[in-house]
Amino acid sequence: MQVLLENKNIDFKNQIEDFISRNLKTTKDINLKLLWQNLFKEGIISRENSFFQNVLLTEALCKFKPGIGLFLLTQFACIETIREFASENLMEKYLNKLISGEIISCFSITEPNAGSDVSMIETFAKKEGNKWILNGHKIWASNGSISDIIITFAQTKSVKAIHELPQRDKSGITCLIIPSKCKEVEILKDTPKLGVEITPSNEILIKNLMVDEQFQIGNIGDGIKIALGTISLGRIFCAAQAVGLLSGILEESVKHSTKRNQFGKSISDYQAIKWYIADMTKDLDGARLLLYKAAWAKENHPEELNKLSSMAKYFCTSTAQKHSSNAVQIFGGAGLIKDSYVACAYRDSKVLEIYEGTNEIQRLVIAREILQNHS
Ligand SMILES: Cc1cc2nc3c(=O)[nH]c(=O)nc-3n(C[C@H](O)[C@H](O)[C@H](O)COP(=O)(O)OP(=O)(O)OC[C@H]3O[C@@H](n4cnc5c(N)ncnc54)[C@H](O)[C@@H]3O)c2cc1C
Repeated sequence: MQVLLENKNIDFKNQIEDFISRNLKTTKDINLKLLWQNLFKEGIISRENSFFQNVLLTEALCKFKPGIGLFLLTQFACIETIREFASENLMEKYLNKLISGEIISCFSITEPNAGSDVSMIETFAKKEGNKWILNGHKIWASNGSISDIIITFAQTKSVKAIHELPQRDKSGITCLIIPSKCKEVEILKDTPKLGVEITPSNEILIKNLMVDEQFQIGNIGDGIKIALGTISLGRIFCAAQAVGLLSGILEESVKHSTKRNQFGKSISDYQAIKWYIADMTKDLDGARLLLYKAAWAKENHPEELNKLSSMAKYFCTSTAQKHSSNAVQIFGGAGLIKDSYVACAYRDSKVLEIYEGTNEIQRLVIAREILQNHS
């Protein structure tokens, strides 16, 4: 795979591996904010990093602990949103602090009635003078309880109740940055979930929060464009998370199967196990190639980004799900020990198929991109 990486990125990967071996001794009790700050202090995260390098970083850290990926993805996606869509003032206020890890961000659009179809959000912002008054209920906000700011979305046009509209007017959604720590914003306790537990996910209640209009990102009505742009990049980080996980389970499976003896020989001598290992190796390489292609497209072929980010997210996460199940099979009973690497990877990989858009939605995006020029 190094054949695809420029020398500077090979050095960068080595630097990350050195960081991991020095700083991450155990997968338990990792302080995510501190981890980000230490990566910044060592120059591994910097304002000058390319998008591709941030993807390499996500892949490497997720090989160590896949759940970290959701934290990284959220912070990187918020940085990209601010870089791409926010005013000079907001960039000045937040960009350096986010990159250094002085502040942590959360990206919150999902609501009880708006999951795959984010245009159905009911959070509402009413304009009074130069302030927005915001009320709403968000769910599944990653990084919620450790965040300092929230990039969120509200209806700013229609006040009709959801049952009165078959479909929301997508041009009525606006993006705002709000503080996480104030009395009008209540972040509920971390939602217990199947996997990716290290990154918190939270419900958020917003009651009569006044937001100065200078904290609006983009124009009124640009919300859906901004959200979809951010999620498209998030999908690439999600794919990187899956590739890191795949390389982790392959390494663990090779280690275990060559050490474990049954019926007088190592289980890796049996064809059944060899096939699992061969398929994992082949699919890891395929997944990584697609991931790097999508990450490369972000900087070189933006017109292909939407399709490639969905392809990478779909392929890498479904492949990770399939092979983490096989990895548990290779481990036998040992793979069922709750905190073992392969058991965690098995649970994490299922979660990866859901966030940043479910894999069914990725298929819709890919098909739409292909078919739109032929109808
Ligand atoms: C761990 C985790 C972290 C998350 N982090 C964030 C976050 O930081 N910020 C945020 O805003 N959101 C976040 N989410 C929300 C996430 O993006 C949504 O869960 C996801 O988009 C799916 O929405 P839903 O759960 O409401 O499922 P639904 O939309 O209810 O979907 C249910 C099922 O129906 C299928 N389906 C829906 N529509 C179609 C269709 N048109 N065609 C075919 N099938 C369809 C889906 O694929 C799925 O199988 C997170 C979710 C999880 C689980």
